[in-house]
Amino acid sequence: MTEQRILEGKLLIDGDWRAGGSGAELEARDPGNGDLIGTLARATTGDVDDAVAAAERARAEWAGLAANDRANYLSAAASALDDDADDWAKLMTTEMGKPFAEAKVECLRAGKILRFFAGEAHRPVGEHYSSDIAQTWLFTRREPVGVVGIITPWNFPAAIPAWKLAPALIFGNTVVAKLAEDAGLTGLRIARALVDAGLPPGVLNVVLGSGSEIGPHITEHPGIHALSFTGSTEVGHSILVSAAKGAKRVQLEMGGHNPVIVRSDADLDAAVAAVALGAFASAGQKCTATRRVYVHSSRYEDFVERLVEAAESTKVGHGLDEGTKMGPLVNEAQLQKVLDSLERTAKEGTVRTGGSRLTEGELARGNYIGPTVVTDLPHDAELACEEVFGPAVAVWPVANDDAAIDLANGTRYGLSAAIFTRDLNAARTFIDQIKAGIVHVNSQTAGADVHVPFGGTASSAYGPHEQGRSAMEFYTQEKTVYLDPSA
Ligand code: NAD
Repeated sequence: MTEQRILEGKLLIDGDWRAGGSGAELEARDPGNGDLIGTLARATTGDVDDAVAAAERARAEWAGLAANDRANYLSAAASALDDDADDWAKLMTTEMGKPFAEAKVECLRAGKILRFFAGEAHRPVGEHYSSDIAQTWLFTRREPVGVVGIITPWNFPAAIPAWKLAPALIFGNTVVAKLAEDAGLTGLRIARALVDAGLPPGVLNVVLGSGSEIGPHITEHPGIHALSFTGSTEVGHSILVSAAKGAKRVQLEMGGHNPVIVRSDADLDAAVAAVALGAFASAGQKCTATRRVYVHSSRYEDFVERLVEAAESTKVGHGLDEGTKMGPLVNEAQLQKVLDSLERTAKEGTVRTGGSRLTEGELARGNYIGPTVVTDLPHDAELACEEVFGPAVAVWPVANDDAAIDLANGTRYGLSAAIFTRDLNAARTFIDQIKAGIVHVNSQTAGADVHVPFGGTASSAYGPHEQGRSAMEFYTQEKTVYLDPSA
């Protein structure tokens, strides 16, 4: 039995680690070689009810603590997670495939997130106004929303749970978190660190299992007052409909289809490196991955040639193997979905490199696809419009900035976008006109500092942005106070 198998897999309800009500489990398999690495308890709707009841019982006392006392739990958990980063990153790599170096950066980032939100204990939580009524103090203050439901995806299994749990807890809410099927073991480490730090029972409850089985029970539960979801646009929109029935506060971070524009004055080395990283890191399984590139015609052939070289020199393998730059897709269903899409793509455009499953030697045991570069696609092709969650990027030549920005804005998404240029005026026009929540000038589409707002627009997001000080907007409600101390 592996270490992970011993440590993993239970639900956290009211401070107890327990099996699901039905005793059923999900298997956790290493996507790089198919090995069984553990099991996850599969929650029933009854388990969800227990979790919500525990969160409700814990709510008043938790909200009544000084924010600094709540912060102490986050800081202690952050230190424990930092100390555990190597082991935690190995677990992430074996559970969902991300190469170890990337996984470790994410694990350390989770600690940074907890620390940033611990710092919220000492930042302003309201505003003071002058009143039209003499002698009156008029101010706003931020109060907890109540019991918050958190639903997370598998692709950032440490960072995304952290950036939802930490603000929920610091602002005095209690939580029922549903972690993704494909990365529950990794996310549970955060819960364990908080429990080990002495978090009172019921403040954080974690359920695991199939989203389609228990998800709607969470999103429609009358005991949950707010829902923060990250995942696909389709599931996000269905959650919006079900949450509307209970008039719940909702925050959705969903899919992306992120464009890069490469102008004629761009530093081509920098642009190629950023596109390769944006498209192939995490095997393209990032909401902020680079999917489309619009290159000025004068640099197009040169750019494509260099990008193909970069793709072909990307070392693909198991994420724990030395030198691996790109790992497997998360599971067989996802592998098949991406392969099917690339097969359709090959009929519409030119696959310059990649486009198929890698099966040489040990790779045959895992879910590997070669880094893929496609050209000559119609702008309405599937790969040009829809989020294909794998290591594939499409490139087109463009005549000028207007055409590039029009095309870049041509999908239903609006998460991240980048431009490569040395011309500040062109960069400013891009920033003004691009449909995106996050904009990069001369850097890759992926990446997010923990202390600034993160989120998209259009079909990529709904509700207030996450992270940074923006998180307060979702995880608190505002009260306006008129106080006449002279009466
Ligand atoms: P997903 O939508 O399939 O699942 C996300 C979570 O929702 C999982 O925990 C799942 O169990 C749960 N779920 C599924 N059906 C549900 C339902 N009916 N009700 C309630 N919960 C349900 O997404 P995924 O495959 O885990 O993640 C990949 C997607 O996430 C991609 O589209 C990616 O772009 C997106 N994503 C977005 C961001 C962002 O910040 N914008 C970040 C990471 C990932």
